[in-house]
Amino acid sequence: MEKIIKPRGTMDVMAPDVFAWNYIEGIVRETAEVFGFTEIKTPTFEEIGLFKRGVGETTDVVQKEMYSFTDKDGTMYALRPEGTASVVRALIENGKISDTLPLKYFYIINCFRYEKPEAGRSREFVQFGSEMFGAPSSLADFTIISLADSVLKKIGLKNIKLHINSIGCPKCRPIYREELVKYLRANESYLCDTCRERMETNPLRVLDCKNDSCKKVAQNAPKTIDHLCEECKEHFEDLKSSLDACGIDYVVDPHIVRGLDYYTKTVFEFIAEGIGSQSTVCGGGRYDGLMEELGGPKMPGIGFGMGITRLILAMKQDGIEPPVLAVPELYVASMGKNAGRKGLEIVSELRKAGINAETDLVGRSLKAQMKYADKISAKYVLIIGDSELEANKASLKEMATGEQTELTLDKITEYIISKNI
Ligand code: ATP
Ligand code: MG
Repeated sequence: MEKIIKPRGTMDVMAPDVFAWNYIEGIVRETAEVFGFTEIKTPTFEEIGLFKRGVGETTDVVQKEMYSFTDKDGTMYALRPEGTASVVRALIENGKISDTLPLKYFYIINCFRYEKPEAGRSREFVQFGSEMFGAPSSLADFTIISLADSVLKKIGLKNIKLHINSIGCPKCRPIYREELVKYLRANESYLCDTCRERMETNPLRVLDCKNDSCKKVAQNAPKTIDHLCEECKEHFEDLKSSLDACGIDYVVDPHIVRGLDYYTKTVFEFIAEGIGSQSTVCGGGRYDGLMEELGGPKMPGIGFGMGITRLILAMKQDGIEPPVLAVPELYVASMGKNAGRKGLEIVSELRKAGINAETDLVGRSLKAQMKYADKISAKYVLIIGDSELEANKASLKEMATGEQTELTLDKITEYIISKNI
């Protein structure tokens, strides 16, 4: 039979990567809880209009990268390319917007984007995201950045740098936009085809194009931070002061603009030096206009998305070893049906006590069982045969030392448990 392989740009995650995966998820849940964020789960697919409005018609995500399909009743759906739009929809739909503010949610979700797969970029990827609504002050921006920073530091990552910028608000951005478009038009011949097109529709996006020639144009482009209104300027200065006060290092980087339309004021990225061209492990910012855009009340928001696979790449680069599955405390080798059953009894009791224990399930010979116990690095091995059953005694071998202890069968679990306290 011909073999079937996984779709391009998807992943099978198994040991050892799955240990890193679980390690990160554990840290995310633990840290989000410390910051008072609660988990939210939303559907894997939504009406396509939600993303068109929430992510923005002019973005690559909506124009080129969405996985969409028409359902049997004719409704157009898309697999979620990101998490924010769904969270906003869910908060409005479930009346959460009238809860005490601020609203603080996080999620760990799979997202889908039709992109060119490479290291750190896949078509199905997992994102840890967080969102806060109802807090207009820069203290909220600081809290969100600090949550991402805490997760990265708890994982133990070292070569990560925080880049921040402000892209203004509906008051000051139009003036800046005009100046930027003027500048881009003057340099049009140096831009890539995509940028020449989006220069008119989404000119800010040109500033983070990865094309070398576009990068050069971006280098001398007018900067958003030089065009902020008083309110945006003060917001940005306040954020920097909070980061300084709490010892979170950053650089101000005028090229951080984010690809999504609904961002206002603060934008930021955490960049892992040296994991390849896809080095942004986390991207986020403020989106004060999004809730209204999706039919909700006027309510400021801020959040981020952090790609788990890129974190795993960064962990590997920093040589961080996640904790692996615990090795079995006890392996029971047995001969004969009755001994096998006794072995299973002992193993079940240990498992009930939360202790990892194993016994033969595939009918190996005694010699092969001993080899297997060694292979799985069991700490103790117990051999039971008919004579041990009759005498109600067996000897427990500590594998590291070779030391043998003679014990009555019903004392075995007690003995192993006592060794584990
Ligand atoms: P990039 O320019 O790096 O693709 P983006 O602006 O498209 O980023 P966001 O939509 O803000 O990214 O997503 C937040 C985070 O999710 C990114 O910083 C990255 O870590 C991760 N991410 C985004 N797209 C992918 C992908 N295709 N594969 C793996 N991770 C991704
Ligand atoms: Mg992208």
